[in-house]
Amino acid sequence: MVAKACAPFNANYSIKSFLTLITHYSTLTTQSIRKLNLKLDLSDIIKAKKKIVILTGAGISTESGIPDFRSPGGLWSIYRTVTIQEFLANEEDRKYYWQYKRESYKNIVKANPNDGHNALVTLEKKGKLQCLITQNIDGLHQIAGNSSNLILELHGTDRQVICLKCSKLYNRDEIQAHLERSDDVPVCDDCGGWLKPATVSFGQNLQPQIIEQAMYESEHCDAFLVIGSSLTVHPAALLPEHAKRSGAWLGILNGDPTPLDSFSDWVCHDPAGQVLQKAINITI
Ligand code: NAD
Repeated sequence: MVAKACAPFNANYSIKSFLTLITHYSTLTTQSIRKLNLKLDLSDIIKAKKKIVILTGAGISTESGIPDFRSPGGLWSIYRTVTIQEFLANEEDRKYYWQYKRESYKNIVKANPNDGHNALVTLEKKGKLQCLITQNIDGLHQIAGNSSNLILELHGTDRQVICLKCSKLYNRDEIQAHLERSDDVPVCDDCGGWLKPATVSFGQNLQPQIIEQAMYESEHCDAFLVIGSSLTVHPAALLPEHAKRSGAWLGILNGDPTPLDSFSDWVCHDPAGQVLQKAINITI
């Protein structure tokens, strides 16, 4: 460390490399200080703010045993995605999609809410949760005890299945039982249309009233906290920026850096459950 600090004065180092080192160290120092201070700030912010909007992604549920998409070993390294257009066009793609859904649902159905989900229930009980926007399809916020009328499921839910022709809804467990017996693509009892989980697939539009409500909530909060989202899936990724530009404090609690880290007021890359447990359960 000492040798490195003295290195710029060695004739072998150019001014350019000296400046590079300074930038490197000052970035690291700023990041470390920011992270340390900001850990304290989260509980202060939660105490101070009254209208908090939360955006959760797959990262809040990894501690419950449901893998996220992008981390190593995540779902994308195992299965390729099937767009809605491919689902509608090819029987092979429909079969492949349902095979993936049959397997991924096994993780969902056996998962229980973790400290992160439970802390958000405490936030609601304290009257500070204005809205819980989630990209998740696992239904764990409802199971933890957050009120359904405060939850906006941007990408739908894996706990229900919908007929693409007549929109009849089915309980997912009933369809899962069919999938365990047969590889056939499930079809609607009433109209014979193809069934698909009530989630938003790639290439499929989000429900306009849900994204409009999410935009409204983002615009009318005093703090917006992202938990466990890579902020790479749109339009969800636009919400934090919208909140901040509308005057809200913005915090990001995510395992990996996100494109909005430098734009936000608070960043932490520690596991969500542990941080939320401390910041919410203990401090309010
Ligand atoms: P993502 O996979 O793109 O990103 C998840 C992020 O969470 C990563 O950046 C990772 O660093 C972080 N993370 C993982 N574990 C964490 C932890 N313990 N604490 C804090 N951060 C942690 O997920 P995304 O941004 O939500 O987008 C993927 C889409 O896939 C979602 O919109 C959703 O529809 C779907 N999905 C949902 C689930 C689910 O319902 N649980 C799981 C996988 C994918």
